[in-house]
Amino acid sequence: MASTVRILDDALVDQIAAGEVVERPASVVKELLENSLDAGADSIAVQIEDGGRRHIRVVDDGSGMSGEDAALCIRRHATSKIATFEDLVHVATLGFRGEALPAIAAVSRTRILTRRSSDEAGTEVIVEAGDLVSIQPRGCPPGTTVDVSDLFCNVPARRKFLRARQTETSRVLEICQRVALIRPTLRMKVESDGRTAREYLPVRSLEERVRQSLGHPSWRHVVGAREGIRLEAVLAPAARAGLGPRHLFLYVNGRPILDRRLARAVAFAYGQAVPHGHYPRGVLALQVQAEDVDVNAHPQKTEVRFPRTARLVDLVTRLLASRLKAAPASFWDARLGSLGPTDQARRPGHPSSSARQDQAHVAEPTTSYVAAPDEVRLIAQLRNRYLVCEGPEALYVLDRQIADEEVRHEALERALAGGALERQALLFPDRLELSAVYAQALEAYDTLLQRLGFEWTLLGERTYIIRAVPALASNASAESLIRSVLEDLIRSAKDPESSAVRALARGSAVRNGDAYPDRDAKALVARLRLGEADSEHGRAVVDRVPLAAGP
Ligand code: ADP
Ligand code: MG
Repeated sequence: MASTVRILDDALVDQIAAGEVVERPASVVKELLENSLDAGADSIAVQIEDGGRRHIRVVDDGSGMSGEDAALCIRRHATSKIATFEDLVHVATLGFRGEALPAIAAVSRTRILTRRSSDEAGTEVIVEAGDLVSIQPRGCPPGTTVDVSDLFCNVPARRKFLRARQTETSRVLEICQRVALIRPTLRMKVESDGRTAREYLPVRSLEERVRQSLGHPSWRHVVGAREGIRLEAVLAPAARAGLGPRHLFLYVNGRPILDRRLARAVAFAYGQAVPHGHYPRGVLALQVQAEDVDVNAHPQKTEVRFPRTARLVDLVTRLLASRLKAAPASFWDARLGSLGPTDQARRPGHPSSSARQDQAHVAEPTTSYVAAPDEVRLIAQLRNRYLVCEGPEALYVLDRQIADEEVRHEALERALAGGALERQALLFPDRLELSAVYAQALEAYDTLLQRLGFEWTLLGERTYIIRAVPALASNASAESLIRSVLEDLIRSAKDPESSAVRALARGSAVRNGDAYPDRDAKALVARLRLGEADSEHGRAVVDRVPLAAGP
């Protein structure tokens, strides 16, 4: 009986490989860019038409190829980059599999025009849907130009999967950005439908490149080395973190990679400042030993394997965390000064802020309230201002803000009776400029303020950085909190401690008019004492309607 197992012919094998390597125009651009970089290009032009679906051209000023190599490079597994298994382990080039050009040529009309600077003439190779059409000598400048037209012209099923022009265009731009970021000295121009879409001029450092292509938030530049791993990162403040890791660009040994665990390692370094599912913006570039990374893990080479992932993730987190937290005052000063409105909204002190350092000793404000002895229960909140409650003998209408202030006041007094208040360190310290009178008050009452949990450093004349606030009042903005405390201290010098505590309670209480979850309102009411005999919290009562005892 005839054998049913057969060796697939080369054309089919190329098609199968193309399925893995070439998914969309952006993957073609990626492979061509990598080849240009491997050829030592200083300058690359990328041109696309119709999102790359109709045409992709990459022009470089790299080494170029001899006529022989130009004929070979479109053959499967033709590569100049590795020869042995040992080379694979120590691969320093971006490409090494020798399958990109044949894979691209198998599913498009491809033209390669190339010349080494030492050669008189160049070579033109034309391939259509995997079939060699012609190889001819041609005059051309040194370097290589690759044209890829009508991608998936012979694979309609794949062509259908391509997205709208705009989507494919932005994917191409994203790939170009990934490459440009890690090669600061590279000049790259990207044109889409005849118009310049991006232009990266050569700069000297990663930090400059990041600023050039990712904008101007307050970038933090971190370099470090430990246990054979070198790290360079340029990262934005936590407040600019984005949902998902899209804006965190990762590189290992100059190779752009995608790696969730590594991205998370960066987020971990920010502690609680970066909310779950969010990732800092910026760039992380690692240099590791060849045996600490396996680059041959993915046909598109976008993923790599780390034999010792846990160790790597841990090292990265620790290196970054130590550098990010040991930030000198001048750093934060400069950074806070340049924060935009979106950052303001998420800065510590703002009620929705999570940009706070998690500290084991910090008490949750709500858990330290005093439990209510009677059963006053919440019926409704009205107009974000009133709490309507039912007690055993009466209906109560309460002023929500005053009720919260009273409960907070009591909790603060209790806590202070124990000596000093718990403090909450701010991951993003607040900057504060005080008038002369306020600055005097700050100096005059510094011991009391520190006992309350405030911590600050003098930055310049009457300019301060607030580094910690009382944990029980940490839901409020650090700046408005310290201002209201100072104001009360200035106004009533008689009993500084109690006026400061009063100001803290008032400054951190929920504002009338603000939305407040019913759950929190219920918890608040449960902590109030409104009975006849015990009316410490009576100030909050706007109205009381006695309930008749039966008909
Ligand atoms: P790989 O990059 O994995 O070696 P490719 O199919 O991408 O495989 O390229 C095959 C070979 O063609 C490369 O090894 C290189 O020698 C040559 N080559 C491809 N593009 C260029 C270029 N832009 N400049 C010079 N040589 C190139
Ligand atoms: Mg390649």
